[in-house]
Amino acid sequence: LGERLQSTFDHMKSRGKVTDEDVKAMMREVRLALLEADVNYKVVKQFVNSVKDRATGQEVMKSLTPGQQVVKVVSEELTQLMGGEQAEIAKAAKGPTVVMMVGLQGAGKTTTSAKIANYLRKNKNRQPLMAAADVYRPAAIDQLETLGRQLNMPVFSLGTEADPVDIAKQSLAKAKEEHYDYLFIDTAGRLHVDDSLMDELQRMKEAVNPDEIMLVVDSMTGQDAVNVAESFNEQLGITGVTLTKLDGDTRGGAALSVKSVTDKPIKFAGTGEKIDAIEPFHPERMASRILGMGDMLSLIEKAQTDVDEDKAKELEKKMRSQDLTFDDFLEQLGQVRNMGSMEDIMSMIPGAGKMKGLKNAQMDDSQITRVEAIVRSMTREERQQPSLMNASRKRRIAKGSGTTIQDVNRLLKQFEDMKKMMKQMTSQQKGKKKGNFSM
Ligand code: GDP
Ligand code: MG
Repeated sequence: LGERLQSTFDHMKSRGKVTDEDVKAMMREVRLALLEADVNYKVVKQFVNSVKDRATGQEVMKSLTPGQQVVKVVSEELTQLMGGEQAEIAKAAKGPTVVMMVGLQGAGKTTTSAKIANYLRKNKNRQPLMAAADVYRPAAIDQLETLGRQLNMPVFSLGTEADPVDIAKQSLAKAKEEHYDYLFIDTAGRLHVDDSLMDELQRMKEAVNPDEIMLVVDSMTGQDAVNVAESFNEQLGITGVTLTKLDGDTRGGAALSVKSVTDKPIKFAGTGEKIDAIEPFHPERMASRILGMGDMLSLIEKAQTDVDEDKAKELEKKMRSQDLTFDDFLEQLGQVRNMGSMEDIMSMIPGAGKMKGLKNAQMDDSQITRVEAIVRSMTREERQQPSLMNASRKRRIAKGSGTTIQDVNRLLKQFEDMKKMMKQMTSQQKGKKKGNFSM
């Protein structure tokens, strides 16, 4: 579907304003993308309406097509809906930060407790303690203790006979006494939300007054995730969400639904079975995943912030008319560097890999540095008129730039290739499209 979305906006011609038809055509695809990503249909409807209003009549930025512009608005709104900024896990002002891990059976509570604890120790230098308060399945305590051994991290347990609320209280006492920074309480889950579970969790909440009640949700459960999140939030009052199993082929629509239903931030994303398969949740990345646009969105973002549009236009004109100079080349390299490595950029352009000649144009950063040095060692005339180049000039340039004649020759060859490639692209595009210089 990402491809369909892509082709819909490829077909929109460059115009000054985003029109009703542009928006309609794009939003039809966006709606499908969202539904396909398992976003709740009510959320989709509301979302589509609000974006339509915002996108229609917008000025189209010079570097974007109307279709891209609509996608940009869509992804911005999606990002906002998912909280905008990355949300941090709670931190108590004093004493250990108490985190209650709650959720249905199999959602990933036990695994995620260990993952987040490990993440905080590794990245934030915190000392966590974990508590085994799921007493209904003996295997659950073993599981947490195994993870604790694996991480060399302490686990508090009173066995399967103790009362979970008691376990929570005693583990908190230990955490305070021994000055741990975080206490992760791994609680029991059920297959469905039920009263006795909620009752136990509520009593535990009252007993330890947690700073964070982290709901762990399996992202593969799609629509069900919404109901689960809603119940836990109403009955317990959650403060954050971790979405697990995002390494599967789910498009992550649950993220959008859960956030919009509970209005509680998603803080972490679980991306695999391994202990370090956890990362802070990034709304904008999830937006592009839900839309199925791959990295197209970040390319749009980069293109609009980093490339000076007018310079790009001028350069394009020169390339088409074949009077590309080394000064232009140098300038373009600067822009390429601003946008990230050449390879990054190429990998973000759908279909770019297939384009002929592009392979030779790829450079890594150290190559760019070398090329810059070479061009800077050329005289003004040489830069403007590459045809002047001869053996003695090359030798002088190599010496001046601390490179070799081979390096200089390679650059001259690349330069010629690039001109050829531009010529190729120009003849391919002739009559088809005007205006946009696309990297
Ligand atoms: P709990 O019942 O909520 O405590 O869930 P567990 O922590 O026992 O996890 C249930 C299963 O899901 C285990 O097999 C975990 O390895 C697996 N799991 C948890 N998080 C992830 C994840 O992010 N990705 C994948 N692929 N598996 C996960
Ligand atoms: Mg468990």
